[in-house]
Amino acid sequence: MQTQLADFLEDTPAGREAAAIVGNCVHCGFCTATCPTYQLLGDELDGPRGRIYLIKQVLEGATPTAATQLHLDRCLGCLGCETTCPSGVQYGRLLDIARPLVAQRVQRPATQSLLRRTLRAGLLGRAFAPALRLAQALRPLLPATLREQVPATQDSGAWPTRVHPRRMLLLAGCVQPAMLPNIDAATARVFDALGIQLVVEPRAGCCGALPRHLDDPDGALNMARRNIDAWWPQLEAGCEAIVVNASGCGAHVAEYSWLLRHDAAYAHRAERVSALARDPCELLPGLLAGHRGAAGRRGPRVAFHPPCSLQHGRKIRGVVESMLATLGCEVLPFAEAHLCCGAAGSYSLTQPAIARALRERKLGHLERVEPELILSANVGCIAHLQGGTTVPVMHWIEWLDQRLAADAFPSGPGPDTFA
Ligand code: SF4
Ligand code: SF4
Repeated sequence: MQTQLADFLEDTPAGREAAAIVGNCVHCGFCTATCPTYQLLGDELDGPRGRIYLIKQVLEGATPTAATQLHLDRCLGCLGCETTCPSGVQYGRLLDIARPLVAQRVQRPATQSLLRRTLRAGLLGRAFAPALRLAQALRPLLPATLREQVPATQDSGAWPTRVHPRRMLLLAGCVQPAMLPNIDAATARVFDALGIQLVVEPRAGCCGALPRHLDDPDGALNMARRNIDAWWPQLEAGCEAIVVNASGCGAHVAEYSWLLRHDAAYAHRAERVSALARDPCELLPGLLAGHRGAAGRRGPRVAFHPPCSLQHGRKIRGVVESMLATLGCEVLPFAEAHLCCGAAGSYSLTQPAIARALRERKLGHLERVEPELILSANVGCIAHLQGGTTVPVMHWIEWLDQRLAADAFPSGPGPDTFA
């Protein structure tokens, strides 16, 4: 598709990049078959090909409308379309360029603007943890629709205190420590058992994905810069990697290099930070391999829901499932594992009807195979899915933590040195 850039975009790097991405699309429509919103709504403009067409119009100078914005807002950013596309269209980056262009020129309804402002302030501010604790205390009294948005209180257990020569950073993030604190603690315990100390840098915080989803791209960039500044001395002092156990945040940190590519003061360091960001599943199979007790005991029947950020964003597929199978779990295949569950960052709060429909569809497939546990790799997916099922949902590393504790797993350095 040839794009005739409008005057206001002609000499901009973002405009040229967007036109080049659109230029790779050959309209084949293969992507519509794997787009969750197209599957649900059946409207071409709620599929990737239609959204690319809408974006092309904006790039060429057409005035975006509320309808343009609605179709882009309904996009989950799941990147299922990128996995399917035979032409390598980088839809996610195109969407990232287009959304602010539309947001600058379309006034959202007051209720929508207020919701986004409230979510930015509420989820990222200091008041989030006490507000969540209050909601958890009142949870039994809440109506069902509200109750399912509030995860039950979770005990995180002890944080390891041993010091190891091998150290890695851990991104604690913004909502996860308050919502599901056991995920970080379990990650620290698992790495500790394998001879690696995880360090949480207190000046780091939200990766920036939430403000990026909520119409604040500048705020997102500033958070990326703050994290780079916070982590840099630790990386210089020998931390080997940045462990990110929420795959949505991991996919975003991996994008720092692209997001800050035009920022001369940060581009170089952003590239290194992105290169060192690791989902725990990229590190643990190698670390576990040399330890007795890592295999051989029968585990539960589990269904692993691969978050879109892991399978489509980071393009990591089958790794967690293989590790779980090696550790004795019966890993149950289920239908439509490639489709989004509807959580998608703040999407379940801004597009609740679609998010709920996608969750019902996902849980239908998951529950049909009758797992004892549903495992996943992203805090948003875990909380969203748990809100709709009585089957326990947890991060796979929490299960691994329990398993290692039950085995009284021997500690010591793993065989692989991460470089
Ligand atoms: S990112 Fe996901 S929801 Fe958006 S167009 Fe692509 S497949 Fe559809
Ligand atoms: S699959 Fe790729 S090339 Fe085909 S319509 Fe979708 S984005 Fe365009």
